[in-house]
Amino acid sequence: MRIDLHTHSNRSDGTTSPRALVRHAREVGIDVLALTDHDTTEGWEEAAAAASQEGLTLVRGIEVSCKLEGSAVHLLAYLPDPTYEPLAEELERILDGRNARLPATVAKLRALGIEIDEDDVRRVAGDAAGIGRPHVADALVEKGVVQDRGEAFDTYLGSRGPAYVKRYAAPLEEMVRMVASAGGVSVVAHPWGRRYTHQALDEARFAALKDDGLVGIEVDHQDHDEPTREELRSIARNLDLVVTGSSDYHGEGKVDHDLGCNTTDPDELERLVELARASAKAAGRTTPEVLLP
Ligand SMILES: [Zn+2]
Ligand SMILES: [Zn+2]
Repeated sequence: MRIDLHTHSNRSDGTTSPRALVRHAREVGIDVLALTDHDTTEGWEEAAAAASQEGLTLVRGIEVSCKLEGSAVHLLAYLPDPTYEPLAEELERILDGRNARLPATVAKLRALGIEIDEDDVRRVAGDAAGIGRPHVADALVEKGVVQDRGEAFDTYLGSRGPAYVKRYAAPLEEMVRMVASAGGVSVVAHPWGRRYTHQALDEARFAALKDDGLVGIEVDHQDHDEPTREELRSIARNLDLVVTGSSDYHGEGKVDHDLGCNTTDPDELERLVELARASAKAAGRTTPEVLLP
């Protein structure tokens, strides 16, 4: 069984529709797929319809933009009740922050002598629920300013770049608790993908997050080299956290992240789903179903 628990559609910054994503997953032999667009559940319905047609198991998720001690941390929230008001409001707040950042980012780029306006970015963003830096990057590629998204981030849009603009992100501990209150479970995405989060997210921190309700760590991810994976795996083992592995697929939007390039062990998925059921029961919420193959 091939299980990929972290992918994006064009409802955030991926380049394929939820339906096309599910179809593509089927073609490449994925049995269980999680759709985890940034800060939105907008793609869930379309993905669920496609999944039942294709005979694929869908796990509904969200990759929530969080912060910990000033650093950006991504949290994968699986199977929360999307109607849980505090969560819906917080996602709204994050998306508003993302959209509000666009004018400031464009102004900074223009000050650097790059001819770009908000409409250039909106055009490439298409159906996305929130316009983010990847869309600005796509507009810069389209204009021939940079070769690809990576170069756009390295040169302009990254947190140390000259066109970087701060935006709202949810406090990590609070979001972990909120996901549990929504009847879902949370897993820290690519925790050591960047050096600064390596320091903030050590074993003691993971232990504290577990007390808040965290259930897992995304260990197998392209941003982690082999020694990093081993170290994270041992932390997960020590703390009895679920280990996941995923592609973080973005369609054409990210190279070297093909569907299924990292996968999750079926036993780990089973644990994750059981924990989600327990969470829903404890919270008294009605959450999306998962029919395991
Ligand atoms: Zn991420
Ligand atoms: Zn992602």
